[in-house]
Amino acid sequence: MAALSVSSSCADVLTNARRVVVKAGSSLLVAPQTGALRHQWMASLVQDLADLRANNTEFIMVSSGAVALGRRALALGDGALILEQKQAAAAVGQPMLARAWAEAFAPTGLVTAQALLTLDDTENRRRWLNSRATLEALLAQNAVPIINENDTVATDEIRYGDNDRLAARVAQMSGADVLILLSDIDGLWSADPNRHKDAQHIPFVAELNTQVMAMAEGPNPGSDLGTGGMATKLEAARIAVRNGCTVMLTSGVCRSPVTALLKGARATMFAPSSSIRDARKSWIAGTIKPVGAVHVDEGAVRALETGASLLPVGMSACTGEFFRGDVLVILDAKGAEIGRGLASYNADEAVQICGLRSEEIAQKLGYSARAAMIHRDDLVLLNKGSEQ
Ligand code: GLU
Repeated sequence: MAALSVSSSCADVLTNARRVVVKAGSSLLVAPQTGALRHQWMASLVQDLADLRANNTEFIMVSSGAVALGRRALALGDGALILEQKQAAAAVGQPMLARAWAEAFAPTGLVTAQALLTLDDTENRRRWLNSRATLEALLAQNAVPIINENDTVATDEIRYGDNDRLAARVAQMSGADVLILLSDIDGLWSADPNRHKDAQHIPFVAELNTQVMAMAEGPNPGSDLGTGGMATKLEAARIAVRNGCTVMLTSGVCRSPVTALLKGARATMFAPSSSIRDARKSWIAGTIKPVGAVHVDEGAVRALETGASLLPVGMSACTGEFFRGDVLVILDAKGAEIGRGLASYNADEAVQICGLRSEEIAQKLGYSARAAMIHRDDLVLLNKGSEQ
């Protein structure tokens, strides 16, 4: 397909999509006042998705709502929940959610499949490949994967916390060409439209740069039920567009929200920025929680831009607790992220070899070691528009 421009329509992109991930937030699935499932809304979305399928577009659902449903069933009230209460609420709400989806899809003849992911399922390469194989097997059987975070076992340190970024990683994992984020807001605005009368709706984002990211700053219009506000939606969009996926952020408040999108409903479309051809590099680029950082000098930045590996001599500092094979962010002298890559050393070794030339490393560590801190095959520069 030709590169997207401000005149491209969501309808055109969606009609030509091969595989779509649709994420629905808690506030769409569960009525905020009563805590009850919105069955008719679900039925309307299911009909939309069945229509997509009839047009030869495969789809995967990412569904929130487990905590919101379980909270009501356990009479936990409206206030903030502590972690254990959230886990308990999800344990009760998730089977209710899965049953509701199965019932909603029953009239279409499509079989639903529940897949509950933990952060490690996308952030650990081996588990990523396993999860991807499962998704492919389900789609090959024409089943509908309904994905949520496994909130019952997730703890604050090891959770996505919001389904926007989970959906972006799923879009990447499944090679989807479109990610639709159904929300309670009809796209990105230059400021929160509830608080700023002069806020402007942004229909098209060609490049998700820092200026665009800043539009979500400050208290952002997240709903009471879900956890993801505009900032997490933009983070999610960034993960997806970097992997060649078009993102559509639109309101799901009305019935049949995907049909509405096809008919020109207001939305923000984020154009894919670059497509990283190498699947492993694309996984590295989309990491949600890198565990450490390496600070590099200007010489190293220039070397990386020519395609070189990151050598210890170019490193000024290392932070975080990481092990060989973990994903690190690479920061320039101003602290700006320029890329990501897989560590060749554990953190305790890395701090010792910062600034050392290759021949000094073995001497320092007492054993012969790898020349690069991050090998170029394991490294991706994030602002590079070209394919890597
Ligand atoms: N996984 C959470 C749930 O099912 C929702 C997270 C979110 O709001 O994005 O309740």
